Amino acid sequence: MEQFSVTPWEIKGKVDYDKLVTEFGVERVEDRHLEAIRELAGDLHFLLRRRFFFAHRDLDLVLEDARAGRGFFLYTGRAPSKSPMHIGHIIPFIMTKWLQEKFSVNVYIEIPDEEKFLAKKVESLEEVAPYVEQDILNIIALGFDEDRTFIFKDTEYIAKMYKPAVLVARHINLSTARAVFGFDGETSIGLVFYPALQIVPTLFENRRPLIPCGIDQDPYFRLQRDIAPKLKRFKTAELLSKLVWGLTGPETKMSASEPETAILLNDEPREVRRKIMNAFTGGRATAEEQRKLGGNPDVCPVFHWYSVLFEEDDKKLREREWACRTGSLLCGECKLELAERVVRFLEEHRRRVKQAEAKRDKFLYDGKLAREMWNWEFRE
Ligand code: SF4
Repeated sequence: MEQFSVTPWEIKGKVDYDKLVTEFGVERVEDRHLEAIRELAGDLHFLLRRRFFFAHRDLDLVLEDARAGRGFFLYTGRAPSKSPMHIGHIIPFIMTKWLQEKFSVNVYIEIPDEEKFLAKKVESLEEVAPYVEQDILNIIALGFDEDRTFIFKDTEYIAKMYKPAVLVARHINLSTARAVFGFDGETSIGLVFYPALQIVPTLFENRRPLIPCGIDQDPYFRLQRDIAPKLKRFKTAELLSKLVWGLTGPETKMSASEPETAILLNDEPREVRRKIMNAFTGGRATAEEQRKLGGNPDVCPVFHWYSVLFEEDDKKLREREWACRTGSLLCGECKLELAERVVRFLEEHRRRVKQAEAKRDKFLYDGKLAREMWNWEFRE
């Protein structure tokens, strides 16, 4: 078996998700969870149907809370860097927005605008500032409810977060932080404190928090689960996804700093088409061979992208898979169609980003939840 490793800061090798479930001690999403979600939400998002969100912690308890009317809340975030968000970044937000809509719950979105500076990935806080604003608009554009969503920047909201962060920080010792976050002797002391700030939003309500995220982020929240009971708060639940493949091969990671692996939300149509037409595929060396032997969608990032974002219809996805395997679909045509879908998706997204500009302050300052949170104080 090929070696692999998954940590919040690095993914190496071909990920064996079965092994990861055991190693991380999380549980698989089962049919009964999906049935319960369908029953409560009246619908099932295709990312759940297709088990892209495939594992969880305490999902049963979240569903029980929903059933009993106690409710829950959602928490997610985005650490802005010096490059725009890419397609892979928005998938947890799409899931979060869907859950908010279906369960009518609050969403807290942390923008740790200091994290990349502390991690020494950018030279100044000013360097990252334009991307902070761009990321906020990209997130709003995904359709969150302006009265049930609070987006906050760490540097701005710190006065409210500091007290609970101190209470959390006391429970994390340096050796745990090193093991969980990969800190070493060169790590800035600001970054060592940062995990405490990341845990604070899970304490915003006296209800169970649910975090939809990639499974690589799970170690961060294991710490929260140790600390929360000491602060008389709920352990966070998680809905964990597989990792979106980059365009350069199966199981590769999409990275904004390696442009060929990803489509950035501000890529121009020409760039989108170029990157997708150059993508790795599960196709054969020649069209003739492909017609005779068929392609392999199981290792094809193009097919993967259809399944995670660009083909919602299960029947059409199965038809594409069959056409690929039987050789009646060639990669050129398949990639071209994906490129056009991505271009249309980005055009629509940009239109929404424009509209989001007018709503920005509702999410940060004057929407119903934002107003409440600017008056919020942590009480034990
Ligand atoms: Fe991938 Fe499409 Fe080629 Fe099949 S036809 S290998 S799905 S690009």
